Amino acid sequence: TSPLFSAITMAPRDPILGITEGFNADKNPAKVNLGVGVYYDDNGKVPLLECVKKAEAILMEKFAPRTYLPIEGLAAYDKAVQELVFGADSAVVQEKRAITAQAIGGTGALKLGADFLKRFAPDAQVWISDPSWENHRALFESAGFTVNNYPYYDAATRGVNFSGMLNALNTMPAGSIVLLHACCHNPTGADLSDDQWTQVIEVVTARGLVPFLDMAYQGFGDGIEADGKVVRRFAEAGGALFVSNSFSKSFSLYGERVGALSIAASSAEEAARIMSQLKRVIRTNYSNPPIHGGQVVATVLSTPELRQLWEEELAGMRVRIREMRAAFVAKLKEKAPAHNFDFVTQQRGMFSYSGLTKEQVEKLRDNNSIYAVDTGRICVAALNQRNIDAVIDAIAAVL
Ligand code: PLP
Repeated sequence: TSPLFSAITMAPRDPILGITEGFNADKNPAKVNLGVGVYYDDNGKVPLLECVKKAEAILMEKFAPRTYLPIEGLAAYDKAVQELVFGADSAVVQEKRAITAQAIGGTGALKLGADFLKRFAPDAQVWISDPSWENHRALFESAGFTVNNYPYYDAATRGVNFSGMLNALNTMPAGSIVLLHACCHNPTGADLSDDQWTQVIEVVTARGLVPFLDMAYQGFGDGIEADGKVVRRFAEAGGALFVSNSFSKSFSLYGERVGALSIAASSAEEAARIMSQLKRVIRTNYSNPPIHGGQVVATVLSTPELRQLWEEELAGMRVRIREMRAAFVAKLKEKAPAHNFDFVTQQRGMFSYSGLTKEQVEKLRDNNSIYAVDTGRICVAALNQRNIDAVIDAIAAVL
């Protein structure tokens, strides 16, 4: 054995993938995995959207050669994504002040943004919500940043500790990088109100902080427009702005790895300089992105009938999750009337911080083969007509 390899210790297991491993090994036919981060339809399957099938049929007919894409990705994709994220009629798009580069999913977009920022803001520190998607910290740390938490979730109210968050923003040094979830906060499901966003935008702008909006669930909250509004509001505020977005969930294209990084600047000339440098980051990472997923999304977004279909299918996913939230609350009211779960219908997106403790999560797993994250996070999109009653009975029994 080489001393190089013998010195390598085992890395900790990914907590969420660990749940899936346990679930896969479980022989109970009634097992339910609420630990996942994907949308399942009412049959418990990851859907293949009709709009995606139709776009793929169009692409198949072309039998196009597989050349390299440009470093920043497919032009039609970047344009369609930029218009989706900022609005086609927005000043940043109209004035060509925004740049968008195709990325390897939302994760890849965050990593590009982090590497870019490390080059040009090496001394800044990064702030993420407490709690946040667990990969946020790791991604920015691996880019070389010190990562801090700002207060976010308030277990007592099951909502946002807004004064805590605002106080933290008010004490960050200028140039600090603040990662914000544009909608459908993962893992808590607790989002800011419009009025709270107004205050956040004010502080971020006044203090010269650098907002980095992560939008991985556009369309799962209140709709495509409503969920994207915060991005537009930040862009209108005029400072530097980073936006990572992902189509993993909204197009059910997880394994195709389709996302993008957009950056809003103050002039077209500045944007061109930014893009030239971002291309160096991409070039030295993976050279250029893959073709297929980007083509599918570009085709759907730029073909009116397919786009209409996508919006309907996305609305279908959003509505189904809402129905599951409502059923979850109504059924628990019946089975466990002493406990109030009304907050679950206030939460947005695929997840709910259910308030279940680690011990309760363990009991659900050991007694009922129901798998959730230790923090009590459940994926509401993994509930369906067939498993919800069993899940509710099991939860009522551990409360
Ligand atoms: N950001 C957040 C908040 C997420 O929850 C996720 C996925 O779970 C991502 C980014 C990454 O998205 P992708 O799977 O497209 O890399």
